[in-house]
Amino acid sequence: MAARRGRQFLHTPGPTAMPDRILQAMARPALDHRGPEFLRIAGRCFAGLKGVFRTGRPVSIYPAAGHGAWEAALANVCAPGDRVLMCETGAFSQWWKEMAEALGLAVDYLPGDWRSGADPAAVEAHLAADRTRGLRAVAVVHNETSTGVASRIAEVREAIDAAGHPALLLVDAVSSLASMDFRMDEWGVDVAVGASQKGLMLPPGLGFTGVSEKAFRAARANPAPRSYWDWRATMPDGETAGFVCTPPINLMFGLAEALDMLEEEGLEACFARHRRLADATRCAVAGWGLEINARDAREASDSVSAVLLPEGHDAEAVRRIARERHDVVLGVGILRLAGRAFRIGHMGDLNAPMLLGALASVQAALAEARVPHDPRGILAAIDRLTGAPADRG
Ligand code: PLP
Repeated sequence: MAARRGRQFLHTPGPTAMPDRILQAMARPALDHRGPEFLRIAGRCFAGLKGVFRTGRPVSIYPAAGHGAWEAALANVCAPGDRVLMCETGAFSQWWKEMAEALGLAVDYLPGDWRSGADPAAVEAHLAADRTRGLRAVAVVHNETSTGVASRIAEVREAIDAAGHPALLLVDAVSSLASMDFRMDEWGVDVAVGASQKGLMLPPGLGFTGVSEKAFRAARANPAPRSYWDWRATMPDGETAGFVCTPPINLMFGLAEALDMLEEEGLEACFARHRRLADATRCAVAGWGLEINARDAREASDSVSAVLLPEGHDAEAVRRIARERHDVVLGVGILRLAGRAFRIGHMGDLNAPMLLGALASVQAALAEARVPHDPRGILAAIDRLTGAPADRG
C-alpha cells in the first residue's frame, strides 16, 4: 500500500478535527481528581460551559456520549407514563424519540418532512389542544445533524408561551453548541443537551446537560427511579454541578483548552466563521447545480450541509471515492437519506483553505462518480470567501 502523507480531512459532522492545542493539552498524566489542581481545572470547565450554553445556570458534565445526555434530560424530568411532545426533524429526533419510548414515555410525535425544522405553529396548536395540560415536555433537536436543518428554537419557545402551556422545553444542542447561535436562558430552554465531539473540537466522551431552575424543580419532584444521571446527585443544591464518578480527567484537560480557544476567538466570531464557511459550502453546492436538503434558507445549518444527489446516483459512491482517493471523509446519508445524500461537516476547528480543499475534493469525487455537475461550483465557493467575483477573463 502506498504511504499516506498529510492529514486526512475529517468532514463528518462529529467527530470533528481536533486542534493540536487540544490534543497536546490531553497528552499528560492523570491527576488526583480530588486534589487542588484538578479541582481548579474542573471549576474552570463548569464555569466556561455556562458561557458556551449562554446560561447562568449549572451545566452538568457526564462521562458519556450525547446519548447519555439525552437520557439524562429525559430521566430527570419525566417518569414512565408521562406524555411528551417531540418534533420529527430527522434521524436524531427519531432516535431520541425511540429512547423516550424505551424509557416508558408516551410520545406525541409531530410529523416533519426531514427538510424543515420543527414547526412552531404546529407545536402551539398541539399544546393548545392539550386541555388537561398533561404534556410534561416539548423536545426539539436544534440542529438536526442528519438533514442539515436547524430549528428556530426561540420561536418554539414563543409557541409554548402563546399556548400558555407549562411544558418544559428540552433542546438537543449537540451539533449547534459552539458553532451556531444558541442561547439557553434567553430562549427559555429548560434542558439543553450537548456533547464534546462537535463544535467543542474534543474527542467523543463528554455529555452535557444545562438545567434551568424550573427543570431542576421538576427533577426534584420526579419520583422516577434513576441513579447515574440524577441531577440531585450531580448538583445537589441545584446550583453547583460536579461528578459522582471518577471524572474523565484527560477529557477535562482538553475541555479547558477548548474553552480557552473559544474565549480567545469569541463566540460571536466563532459563529460568524461558521456562517461564512457554511455559506461558501452552500455556494459550491448551488454552483454544482445540486441541492442542499434544507428547504428554507433560514433553516440551513451552519455546521453541516446535506447534499442531495439526482435520482439514479449513489451518494455512497461519492463518499467512497472522496475517502479512498482524496482522503476527505464525508458524512453518510442516514435512514431516509441513505444513498440519496452525503453530508459535509463544516464545524469546529476549520478555516477557509481547509474547506476549499475539501470542496475541491468533493468536486473531484463528483466527477469521478459521474454525477452531473457544473465544475464552476468550486469557483462559487472561492467567490463567496473572497467577497467578490473573480475576473474569469
Ligand atoms: N444529537 C445530535 C443532533 C447528534 O448529531 C448526535 C450525534 O451525532 C447525537 C444527538 C448523539 O450523540 P452521540 O453519538 O455522542 O451519542
